[in-house]
Amino acid sequence: MREYELVAGLETHVELSTKTKIFCGCTTAFGSEPNTHCCPICIGLPGTMPKLNRQAVRYAIMAGLATNCEINPIAKMDRKNYVYPDLPKAYQISQYDRPLCSNGYIQLQNGRKIRILRIHIEEDAGKLVHERGDTYVDYNRGGVPLIEIVTEPDIRSIDEAIEYVEKLQLIMRYIGVSDVKMQEGSLRCDVNISVRPKGAEQLGIRAEIKNMNSFAFMQKAMQYEFERQTDLLESGEQVVQETRRYNTDTGETEPMRGKEDAHDYRYFREPDLVTIETAPQEVEQIKAALPELPDAKFARYTEAYGLSETDANILIKYRRVAEFFDAAAKLVQTPKTVSNLIITQIFRRLSTEEQKEAFEIVVTPQTLAELIALRESGKINNNLLKSTLEQMLDTGKPVAALIDEKDLGGVDEATLREICRQVVAENPAAVQDYRGGKEAAFKALIGGVMKATRGKANALQATEILKSLL
Ligand code: ADP
Ligand code: MG
Ligand code: ZN
Repeated sequence: MREYELVAGLETHVELSTKTKIFCGCTTAFGSEPNTHCCPICIGLPGTMPKLNRQAVRYAIMAGLATNCEINPIAKMDRKNYVYPDLPKAYQISQYDRPLCSNGYIQLQNGRKIRILRIHIEEDAGKLVHERGDTYVDYNRGGVPLIEIVTEPDIRSIDEAIEYVEKLQLIMRYIGVSDVKMQEGSLRCDVNISVRPKGAEQLGIRAEIKNMNSFAFMQKAMQYEFERQTDLLESGEQVVQETRRYNTDTGETEPMRGKEDAHDYRYFREPDLVTIETAPQEVEQIKAALPELPDAKFARYTEAYGLSETDANILIKYRRVAEFFDAAAKLVQTPKTVSNLIITQIFRRLSTEEQKEAFEIVVTPQTLAELIALRESGKINNNLLKSTLEQMLDTGKPVAALIDEKDLGGVDEATLREICRQVVAENPAAVQDYRGGKEAAFKALIGGVMKATRGKANALQATEILKSLL
């Protein structure tokens, strides 16, 4: 059998988190009673006039800038005509030949750039709800602003497709234009996929798998589709260009409809909306207000701070974590200590993705930096650093309230000797085991000393004293 290569291009819909819909003042809030967030404009009654939401345009420009796109000084809205129950106007207001943004890219870890052909704005459709053997329609989502981000067919594997979407998600979250939750539908992917013999120049015929709403399904659907198309080519048949859906019950993709072409939609300019003009100064202003993006942070963390790529990737994954790290790292001599404490000790308390994302802790970058400074100047050891951080995380108390002057000197020898005696007296079993040749039992004894001194004891000194007592 010949070797085949997967080729994919993604069309990703991202719901913008504006307060109101794209052409009317209805709320975009998610999860309310069906058909309560609707008005004559967003349900498309004849004679109503849409008005473009400025914030939606601004968010789309932010998304474009954050993915290295050019912002087109002149853009316009068009009608895309089709009939489906979720679209009461029988057309969707979208952008056809003059999108807001074009020619960007997102770079993957392997260095490959996935080119972005365009980003345009459009309105979302309503939602069909299948219940009790009937189909209902909820228009609350109709008119919610979307951006559609279209890539060139640059993706060459399932892993690349997933990484692209994850990165896109991360960028959108950083700039705050969407909550990009796949399971809630605020990020949805159409995957265009074809195969070709390895080394071939020409692209194969593609199928488009609609509306992937989880990474797991996306991965399975792509795998299935890759095998299906490879089998077709191997047996001398042709792939049919069509739209398919992934059936989560069977784990297979199945035909949905033939492929429409642009001319099927009879695109024409939306006559009720004016041209969208964006002045270069406006673009500059928006650009200046963008936060530092994940790629830039990654480069700074690995190059300037010398963090490992793994650690840098963990920190940039959550914007608030990265910002906390940045603030603390500036105040200390060893940024790596900040990163270690976040990734090990602090993350131990934040187990879910949501908790890491929210990063709600009572310790501030300043107090963490103060604590680390004590360690850097040799005034406290690692154990005391860690146990104090635990207390800070529990109580929110400042360093000065937890470590006093006499702690800073560590534990004097007489006190330490006394504590060691106690530990030996209180742990006869461990003492016996150790004397019987079980080295591991010694750990329990050292642990006891550390606990009694809240980690302040010098471990070497404690070892010596304990051994002399045993
Ligand atoms: P349409 O608008 O009809 O869906 P486009 O030509 O705009 O079609 O392409 C849509 C998506 O399909 C783009 O993301 C593009 O990269 C991808 N694509 C186009 N041709 C192929 C192909 N042969 N194999 C895989 N993906 C493709
Ligand atoms: Mg398409
Ligand atoms: Zn409305």
